[in-house]
Amino acid sequence: MNTLDRSPYLDWSDVADPVADDALRSLLTEERMRDRWFDLSKETRSVHRLILESFIQRARPPTPQELSELRLPNLQTKDVLDELDRRDLIVFRRGAIQSAYPFSASETLHTVELAAVRNWTVCVIDALGTAAMLGKAATVRSSCPICGEKIEIYVYKNGLSTDRISPSGVVIWASVAETEGCAADTQCQSMLAFCSDAHLETWKPEGVIGFQLTPHQAIQVGAAIFKPFLRTSVG
Ligand SMILES: [Zn+2]
Repeated sequence: MNTLDRSPYLDWSDVADPVADDALRSLLTEERMRDRWFDLSKETRSVHRLILESFIQRARPPTPQELSELRLPNLQTKDVLDELDRRDLIVFRRGAIQSAYPFSASETLHTVELAAVRNWTVCVIDALGTAAMLGKAATVRSSCPICGEKIEIYVYKNGLSTDRISPSGVVIWASVAETEGCAADTQCQSMLAFCSDAHLETWKPEGVIGFQLTPHQAIQVGAAIFKPFLRTSVG
């Protein structure tokens, strides 16, 4: 029995599976979700949304010029990006947006394709949560870190049901790790898809703690995390 609270900053409405529930409580702790969303201003939220829209439409973050054209009242664009980075909603480094969960501006093992636009994602669970975030069907692709076998999962627009899971024995692994403020550098590096149980076991580092999930369980986890992202308020 997991004694950690269910964070109100996650959307629990589709979390029917007890393993997915357990994983969410352990991975997306209330403390971490509060740092992300508590007291986020409307203006900052609108910049966050603009960054996500840019990835969704053009498979890239907005340029500094596109952001400055927003002419944010009483806000400096750089300060807003720094705040979003501090909250671990984006990774903003060396003057550029490196990622905005679920999307990554640089290559990773995972992609999500929505309406013919393909983005890299920070981790495989991010890719699996994108359909739920947008209410649009998505094709998630990854590759097994051991053998390189291509993995493909089609998620329907309800964000919860799947078709074409290939290969059929796909397993998702999510490590429980300290995020040290930035999940992209830490926890997300060990959220991976494997072709089989056997290759997950080959990869698993000694003493690692985490959750082995089916694609359906991982999709429920992704939906709970990402459904609130494009809403006007969270929590
Ligand atoms: Zn493999």
